[in-house]
Amino acid sequence: MGDAAREVLAGILRPWWMAAVDLLFPPRCQVCGTPEAFPLCERCWLEFPRIERPVCQVCGRPLRGPPDLLFVCVPCRHRRNPLRVRAFGRYEGRLRDAVHALKYRGRLALADPLGCALAQLLAQDAREAAPDALVPVPLHPRREARRGFNQAEELARAVGRYLHRPARRVLVRVRDTPSQTELDEDERRRNVRGAFAVRESVRGLRLVLVDDVVTTGSTLAECAAALRAAGAAEVLGVALAMALPQD
Ligand SMILES: [Zn+2]
Ligand SMILES: [Zn+2]
Repeated sequence: MGDAAREVLAGILRPWWMAAVDLLFPPRCQVCGTPEAFPLCERCWLEFPRIERPVCQVCGRPLRGPPDLLFVCVPCRHRRNPLRVRAFGRYEGRLRDAVHALKYRGRLALADPLGCALAQLLAQDAREAAPDALVPVPLHPRREARRGFNQAEELARAVGRYLHRPARRVLVRVRDTPSQTELDEDERRRNVRGAFAVRESVRGLRLVLVDDVVTTGSTLAECAAALRAAGAAEVLGVALAMALPQD
């Protein structure tokens, strides 16, 4: 093959070759794959199913029916010493896809925009935006070693960067609890009882617990109980996504 022919061929092949590299290592949205929208495209961001106010002041679930003076849902009126919880969105649609991409496909670059979403949620309340520390819900060390990261900790660090607050690994999971997905609320509560321990002083601190998904809230409640027992002054639970029954 002559030089000229080679050059022509290279000219034809180069765009193809560069396109192939882009296909293999594209700066794509880590949720839906839209090109040149790394790590999250605008459409995914806009389509996240946000939880709109009014929400129950205790459990953070959307309030239905005529407004209640106290903004507390009926089940929460009967709970003793409940944990206040807030979630950014519903665990469905693109937000569910985003949680799965972060957690099961290791798309850690998503932690930054998702942490920003949580920081925005906390920033709605000046007091909640300035905790002494963000505390990730821990995985059992064995599970964390297998996964290579803890998605709750990735989120807590990102929230901390946006709010200029430290993220601290204050809690450890001392018991590896079976997956909760098949359990009802009572079973979940029993499943996580005594599963967490506090490994450094939290006396007098205002803490925000961070998790990726909240379902019944039993894990967050158990973590909060451990922190309160260790002297934490105030605990708020936040999750990126909340599992809610379909309308
Ligand atoms: Zn997308
Ligand atoms: Zn409630």
